[in-house]
Amino acid sequence: MDPKKFKCSSCGLTADYNHFGQTPLKTAKKNIVLLEKAYTMRNPFKSNDGEFLVVGAHCSICGDVVCVDPDCSLFYSKRFCLNCASNNINEFPLPIQKEILHNCKSR
Ligand SMILES: [Zn+2]
Ligand SMILES: [Zn+2]
Repeated sequence: MDPKKFKCSSCGLTADYNHFGQTPLKTAKKNIVLLEKAYTMRNPFKSNDGEFLVVGAHCSICGDVVCVDPDCSLFYSKRFCLNCASNNINEFPLPIQKEILHNCKSR
């Protein structure tokens, strides 16, 4: 299977991903189910079956593709891009709000 291109709509990061969905790799020994539909790639540093990295996912509000970098997205029961997170900041508990504000400032 040829790798497909992932591109973060926030920071522009590109990566080759292998799979999009909640189950990262069909060949994985363990049955791993992610909490969200995510873009995953085989871990380039480990050749073991089932080793994978989550590259990114879709924001649950605007649907934009964002990477898992804390500058780009936040996972709090669902994936949020930082824009949507800061637009809906009052929906989050206080520690998460602080994190959002901190990450927004660091841009
Ligand atoms: Zn990004
Ligand atoms: Zn969004």
